[in-house]
Amino acid sequence: QPIDILEMLEEVTDRFSFQMHQKDIQSVLSVENDIPAVPLDRDQIDQVLDNVVSNALKYTLEGGTITIAARRSDEHTLAISVSDTGMGIPQRDLDRIFERFYRVDKARSRSMGGTGLGLSIAREIVKAHDGSISLESEVDVGTTVTFTLPMHDKGGEHLEGTD
Ligand code: ATP
Ligand code: MG
Repeated sequence: QPIDILEMLEEVTDRFSFQMHQKDIQSVLSVENDIPAVPLDRDQIDQVLDNVVSNALKYTLEGGTITIAARRSDEHTLAISVSDTGMGIPQRDLDRIFERFYRVDKARSRSMGGTGLGLSIAREIVKAHDGSISLESEVDVGTTVTFTLPMHDKGGEHLEGTD
């Protein structure tokens, strides 16, 4: 059944509002207004969002900002991004970051807690939904994780024809 994206993202923000407040982190929600309700597995996408937003929260210092945004990246595709103003990820680690158990800088990671599974699980779920997930980051500036999801059922009637 189709999910209202604004409502879903508002609920994510609500789930994390206490922790954000405790860390003096601002949250910004930005949802384009022409996004239709999207057929997706709400529990699964919530898990993706929880994994990505919990990272943003964990790896951002007090006073930072987390921005959750949703837009159409094209006619058939929804793009959801989570940006933070946190510590970032070194360039050399970027292409391994979605691997199971991969964590940047063991010392820093150990003090943060976690197992290194969050992003790999997020990627599995997004792939199972025929979407893709990517991450951009700059050390000491911040990180943006973006994932895409098809906005239509796989019924076929919305697939591009060969005309
Ligand atoms: P888990 O999610 O299992 O609790 P984790 O957060 O360490 O543990 P992932 O979510 O898979 O594991 O992230 C992998 C690594 O990527 C993290 O250890 C961290 O070093 C880095 N990372 C992920 N998201 C961010 C982010 N927003 N800012 C900075 N580093 C990040
Ligand atoms: Mg994590």
